[in-house]
Amino acid sequence: MARRLSAVVVGAGVGGLAAAARLAHAGLDVQVFEQTPAPGGRCAQLHANGYTFDMGPTILLMPEVVERTFRDLGRPMASYLRLHRCDPNYTIHFRDGSRLTFTSELTRMGEELERIEPGSFARFLRFLALGRVQYRTSLDQFVSRNFDHLGQFLTPASLRGIFRARAHRRLYSVASEFFRDDRLRAAVTFQTMYLGISPYDSPAVYGLLPFSELGVGIWFPEGGLHALPLALERLARDVGVHVAYRTAVKSITFEGKRATGVKLEDGTEVSADLVLCNADLPWAYRNLIDPKVTRLRRAGKLRYTSSGYMMYLGLDRQVPELGHHNVFFGGDYRGSFEDIFERFRVPADPSFYVAVANRTDPSLAPAGCDGLYVLVPVPRQHPSLDWATEGPRVRAQVFARLREEGLDLERHVVTERVFTPDDWASRFSLEHGSAFGLSHHFFQVGPFRPSNQDPTVRNLFFVGASTQPGTGLPTVMLSAELVVQRMRREAAALGATLAPAPVLAPEAAA
Ligand SMILES: Cc1cc2nc3c(=O)[nH]c(=O)nc-3n(C[C@H](O)[C@H](O)[C@H](O)COP(=O)(O)OP(=O)(O)OC[C@H]3O[C@@H](n4cnc5c(N)ncnc54)[C@H](O)[C@@H]3O)c2cc1C
Repeated sequence: MARRLSAVVVGAGVGGLAAAARLAHAGLDVQVFEQTPAPGGRCAQLHANGYTFDMGPTILLMPEVVERTFRDLGRPMASYLRLHRCDPNYTIHFRDGSRLTFTSELTRMGEELERIEPGSFARFLRFLALGRVQYRTSLDQFVSRNFDHLGQFLTPASLRGIFRARAHRRLYSVASEFFRDDRLRAAVTFQTMYLGISPYDSPAVYGLLPFSELGVGIWFPEGGLHALPLALERLARDVGVHVAYRTAVKSITFEGKRATGVKLEDGTEVSADLVLCNADLPWAYRNLIDPKVTRLRRAGKLRYTSSGYMMYLGLDRQVPELGHHNVFFGGDYRGSFEDIFERFRVPADPSFYVAVANRTDPSLAPAGCDGLYVLVPVPRQHPSLDWATEGPRVRAQVFARLREEGLDLERHVVTERVFTPDDWASRFSLEHGSAFGLSHHFFQVGPFRPSNQDPTVRNLFFVGASTQPGTGLPTVMLSAELVVQRMRREAAALGATLAPAPVLAPEAAA
């Protein structure tokens, strides 16, 4: 008779929860152990004196991937989660005092661009058309499939896709062929920082990001981004997953070359047929896995994304000059990336991003007040950076810059919390405090990125930002789809009979 198999999942991040729900729906007994008190990992939420702040993600792209997770499990997303589209998308404040608002209203977008660089709108449309090709090629050929070996990646069709999507070139250099004005070159390339990578180092395929923002939209869940992991957790429980919070996993246990389960911090051992690790992959290999059993290849050579110095500010007033999403560019665009990624120092005149989520969902701040989320991109942890001294300096620079923009906000702060790269590292066990996990340069994407199945221990799997396909909320939900395909294969080899796999639906045509 077919056996009912069990799986343990280490971590209740978005990837872990999405995968747990899929596994339980397939017919496995699934337990999730999460060290923090709440679901979502980096997609956590902070409540302070009537203000609600998302701590990490503030932008949801590719909502069709979220929708598919619910649909595949036979549940309508609308019963769990309500999404609103943000338009205008954001306003960029350049260092010279000029501004640019991105909007899907093309006539207005054209006026905005032509003001900065006459003749640029037609080229912008061509840039977006390339972005659409990159979006489709990337989804159809690269991020929606598992690669078992390099040969599957280096087929003539894949190579054609790489050239079509310009994956072999750098984004900033491709964007510079479309725009002459440095402000526009910055405005269509800074989005790679959503992945924590410099546009000077990023494959040009990430031109899909500005396309996705305008063509598919920037979305915001009612209640904030944390509503997404809350919804996934409810979905998971509805299909039978058990989730335990404040329960840290101390190690993954092995017998020979098989994982046998996990050992919890309190010494309890939990056995399972399959182990799925949602903890940050390089951190997990270093801390949870016995290197005598298996180890992460090229571990010392891997490159990491940037981190974020965060301020969550409750103001005693509203600031009508700020929309939901606002970007403030510092002085030296190229130099700031070299500082963050090569010199490991905070740029002298840092760029930063401000979100006012209560613009879209007023329940997130007291009436008549604004809650500001400030993200300053900074290097990952480095011995030369002491956040006790860097933090106050960065804070002062942010308020000084806002004052230059005519926003005298410091005296209106009534609630304030900060979160540094050291906090990202310790709270969520992120290697080097890298906010987005492993980097996404050409040799760390596709089959070059650490696999979601350990090459030696075949029943040990990974899901999340530092495995394939990569970082970002929709991407880690794709990661959940991909790893569950592999786990189904392993479960079938162990003799399990599973519910039929969902038919992989093509993406909504974009
Ligand atoms: C500041 C910031 C801004 C971002 N902005 C965006 C954005 O706007 N849009 C977007 O799409 N993405 C954004 N991202 C990226 C996005 O947050 C991540 O890619 C995604 O949330 C990663 O999910 P994950 O499944 O890899 O898990 P994680 O969020 O890393 O969760 C893993 C979980 O495992 C738990 N864990 C680790 N070790 C153990 C253990 N030993 N025992 C038990 N539990 C353990 C952790 O506590 C954590 O809860 C942002 C990230 C940051 C930090």
